[in-house]
Amino acid sequence: MDYELMKKLSEADGVSSQEGAVAKLLAAEFRKKGLKTEIDNFGNVLAYKSIGKNPLMLGAHMDEIGLMVKHIDEKGFIRFIKIGGIDDRTLINQQVTISTGNGMVAGVIGSKPPHIMKEEERKAAVEAKGLFIDVGATDRKEAEELGVEIGNTVTFNTQFRRMGKKMFSGKALDNRLGCYVLAKLAEGLPANVVLMGTSQEEVSTFGKGAKTASFRLDPRAFVAVDTTVAGDHPEVKPEEAPIYLGKGPAIALLEAGGRGNVADRGLAGKTIRIAKRNKIKFQLEVFDGGATDAASVHNVKSGIPSIAVCIPTRYIHSTVSVAHEDDVWAETMLLKGMLKEF
Ligand SMILES: [Zn+2]
Repeated sequence: MDYELMKKLSEADGVSSQEGAVAKLLAAEFRKKGLKTEIDNFGNVLAYKSIGKNPLMLGAHMDEIGLMVKHIDEKGFIRFIKIGGIDDRTLINQQVTISTGNGMVAGVIGSKPPHIMKEEERKAAVEAKGLFIDVGATDRKEAEELGVEIGNTVTFNTQFRRMGKKMFSGKALDNRLGCYVLAKLAEGLPANVVLMGTSQEEVSTFGKGAKTASFRLDPRAFVAVDTTVAGDHPEVKPEEAPIYLGKGPAIALLEAGGRGNVADRGLAGKTIRIAKRNKIKFQLEVFDGGATDAASVHNVKSGIPSIAVCIPTRYIHSTVSVAHEDDVWAETMLLKGMLKEF
């Protein structure tokens, strides 16, 4: 695994609608492999060798969950809103980075120390709207001089690290893992296939950028290259999330209890056959809780056969997540198999 690239992708900041840094990285990887690239009106990065009628489209969303500056008080403390589905409990005392016109500003999410908490405060649920960011300013003017403005996006300052023999942790693995896989598919990409880094997946029930791009390209089929919830750790019962790290990508048959993509049966059958024939490990997933870009593409125009192939990832939609390199490899191999046969 190319850990240098994975680290760069994980540590790049790209809260939904501000995916520029990730788009730049990804476009550079595509061009290195001789592909043509373009960035469309919606911020999606498209890469292809050549494009004809009804191409095959593979999309990985580039955006990550994060925060946005809502208000700066007289003392220079910042209130924020959440962008995307974040568990409020994971926010307390995180180190964060605010992207401003003056560059990156360091901050921490503050909280009341336990020494001075009342019993009921200690037991109360954490709510994002009760939290604030401290940027080390003494008043509002100083915060503004640092460059902080209403509307700045905020990311978690999580370092990328390798763990154990084959695992790694970092921020935004949902879905920089998918971006990484697309970069690996660029080499020897067949004609009439579009690789696409999509924008704004995390801020809608379903992806926004994938929808606009599929409307334009009218693909004959769409594959969402994404991540999914792995439940192979304490405090999750096997029946709640029966997807495991190291056992291969999850082929999603149904998302969000059917409100998301219901995988095209022909496409699902073909994907499974390709995995079996190439002896690539895979898992089948039926998911009640979340959806992918496939949810926003499958019912565009007169319908586009769509499927999501997802890398199992622990602790997604928090400030840090964990994945396994064998799954990244298996996902890449499965998609390569699909490219060859479609
Ligand atoms: Zn995702």
